[in-house]
Amino acid sequence: MPETQTTASDLMTAYVEAHPRSRAAFERATGVLPGGLTHDTRALAPFLPYIERAQGARKWDLDGHEYVDYAMGHGALILGHAHPAVVEAVRRQIGLGTHHGANHVLEIEWAERIRAIVPGAELVRFTSSGTEATLLALRVARAAMGRSKVVKFRGHFHGWHDAVMPGQSPPWDAIPQGVPAAVASQTIVLPPDAAAVEAMLAADPDIAAVILEPSGASWGTVPLAPRFLQDLRRLTTKYQVYLVFDEVISGFRVAPGGIQQTSGVTADLVTMAKILAGGLPGGAVAGRRDLLEPIGLPGSNRKKIQHPGTYNANPLSASSGVACLDLIRDGRAQAQCDRTAAALRAELNAVMAKLGVHGAAYGISSGFHLAFDPAIAPGDPESALALPPDTLKKQRGLPLFAPLTVAMLMRGVHVFAMGGFLSIAHGPEDVARTTEAFEGALRQIEEMLPR
Ligand code: PMP
Repeated sequence: MPETQTTASDLMTAYVEAHPRSRAAFERATGVLPGGLTHDTRALAPFLPYIERAQGARKWDLDGHEYVDYAMGHGALILGHAHPAVVEAVRRQIGLGTHHGANHVLEIEWAERIRAIVPGAELVRFTSSGTEATLLALRVARAAMGRSKVVKFRGHFHGWHDAVMPGQSPPWDAIPQGVPAAVASQTIVLPPDAAAVEAMLAADPDIAAVILEPSGASWGTVPLAPRFLQDLRRLTTKYQVYLVFDEVISGFRVAPGGIQQTSGVTADLVTMAKILAGGLPGGAVAGRRDLLEPIGLPGSNRKKIQHPGTYNANPLSASSGVACLDLIRDGRAQAQCDRTAAALRAELNAVMAKLGVHGAAYGISSGFHLAFDPAIAPGDPESALALPPDTLKKQRGLPLFAPLTVAMLMRGVHVFAMGGFLSIAHGPEDVARTTEAFEGALRQIEEMLPR
């Protein structure tokens, strides 16, 4: 590889010098925000740029740098930043009030769209986030079943409430800080293996639900074995346990009806957020009428499931959600994003093959993940997918994570957590710019790449 490489510290110095305003903002932030941050995934040494505005597939920071964005609202922005239809809907609503403390018609329109698009969505209950959606889904399942425990899978992410924190990252049996051991003991963390699930369901009569990311852990960073979803459906039915699909990322993205649609497997409950609300805060649990109906019982009924929430289906999120779902319901947006993402993955792999870098880009639908390991044949996603699950899951922990992200930022591309999301706003020009940036970045960090 040619001689353009610099040391990691040269790269970081150049980055800090090129971002004086972001640097000043980060220093200020550390005085008031833990670690200077508001989300764990935004941790990056030395700091992420501070963004001032965003449009389409691009965003601009305080220092005037432009980026092709692959964070895309952590996956919420399938229409791109500030899509005119969403902006118009929100602008109209904000002048009419953002919280009426009463019923409003948009909440019905939003739910009707979900019912029309999402398989098995007989009833819908809105929440304010994906975390709240998985919290509610598990409460509903436990209430209906009269049992306490839930099964989840290694590395699968369902937000940050206590019941789903165990098993998010290795070591799989660790109890996360601040989660009571008694609460963690109600969450059984399994490898995503049908035999392990069957053994557990057969042995423990206190399991109410099995929850998973039907894409595989962390939006398919670690894909599932073929037919695992079908196996889970069969086993949960056989042992009379509820099946919960967490489609917070995959919902409306892999297809209008999410992985339920593409796999043909219908869960008992499905959780959604992100695209659901078009880039504003919002989540929902949808699914079987008999499971969700107890939320609607009068308070005097002892079977009632409590679920308040000041911002549930607030008019602003509802206006954005309705506008967004209207644009993605026929599947054309998804098909377009998928094509762009496939082209990007192919280009990134071609760069790695050309440079002989032991890494690959892989992923489904409109996403991509990057993996680096001596065992990966340059640019070959199949050899990446053959790596042990924990190696795939831990890519963000590699020493090259920060240098690669920073080297890409220096070239005008924000790769998000070793991967990213595409939107309808991403096009060939973004792919070309990203590919060029990627080649330059890999050359620059050559000394840190696996050999
Ligand atoms: N489930 C999955 C699959 C997610 O990816 C996320 C967030 N990335 C959540 C739940 C939590 O959603 P939120 O951040 O809206 O609480």
